[in-house]
Amino acid sequence: MQDTRPLLLQTDFPAIRRDVLQTLQVNLGYLCNLSCTHCHVNAGPTRTELMDRETINVVLDYLSIKEIDTLDLTGGSPEMNPYFCYLVEAASKMGVRVMDRCNPTILEEKGYEYLAEFLAKHEVIVIASMPCHSEQNVDRQRGNGVYRDSIAGLKKLNALGYGNPDSGLLLNLVYNPDAPVLPPPQEELKRDYRRILWAEHGIAFNELYVLANMPISRFGARLLAKGDYVEYMNLLRGSFSQENLETVMCRSLISVDYQGYVYDCDFNQMLLMPLIVSDKPRTHLSELLKIDLAGVDIATGEHCYGCTAGQGSSCSGALS
Ligand code: SF4
Ligand code: SF4
Repeated sequence: MQDTRPLLLQTDFPAIRRDVLQTLQVNLGYLCNLSCTHCHVNAGPTRTELMDRETINVVLDYLSIKEIDTLDLTGGSPEMNPYFCYLVEAASKMGVRVMDRCNPTILEEKGYEYLAEFLAKHEVIVIASMPCHSEQNVDRQRGNGVYRDSIAGLKKLNALGYGNPDSGLLLNLVYNPDAPVLPPPQEELKRDYRRILWAEHGIAFNELYVLANMPISRFGARLLAKGDYVEYMNLLRGSFSQENLETVMCRSLISVDYQGYVYDCDFNQMLLMPLIVSDKPRTHLSELLKIDLAGVDIATGEHCYGCTAGQGSSCSGALS
């Protein structure tokens, strides 16, 4: 697979610094039941990297000592980590808001029959990937049968109250294009999703986040293989918005890899661009327990233009 990393390291992206830390994003490993074409972590069923219990305990220590508001769990399929329930239970007991970046087909996998009720019991915010409301597009991007299983998974969550504005259980969907283009306006697309998913399947949800694809990992390789890399980067650079620069997620979030090493965001994690606070080449979460990250420089690269293009893109959707 071709790698865009060497092309992304040199950049004229504006220098940015961290603000107050609010969210600890933890990648529980690269194991996933799917293998999507746009995946920026190259996750899949044969990946073996998973966060161990010792590292999960460091995460819990960090949440408690630093009084972090939000734990944002990602992967792979984070639920496939054997300590997923242990972490969620302990974090919610501390009063931390837990978010699960879930591909809803996992709710249909054998062995995960308990999952929807577990998430509801702990009031976990579910951020469910649903790259299109069209079956054909979803199956092309994610694999045959994925649309059908995603719909079944979302229905399971709806049946427990997820997506109902009065239940307090939040179900937010995530859209990303399956082509080297910017996503359409978030509000317009949200209206379409709401109308179509309700009319065709009776599915309700709270928010829709639109994300631009990052020119890294599997999607980056695809850009290079098809000769689209330069054009896509020109599109991202040409759509730069200063307003988005103020709200990029890395200002208030750190991303932890499955071994406990820390990055400014999930994308930097995939590009092996660590957050550095000393003369060591990378930083472990356990070394940050006594350090205030506000004001620390953020490591940037050409891919950062993917966060500031157009309406902006972060793990919580459009920025402006
Ligand atoms: S995009 Fe999500 S669901 Fe698809 S392979 Fe990657 S981690 Fe798994
Ligand atoms: S890719 Fe986005 S979130 Fe990550 S460091 Fe760059 S601007 Fe920040």
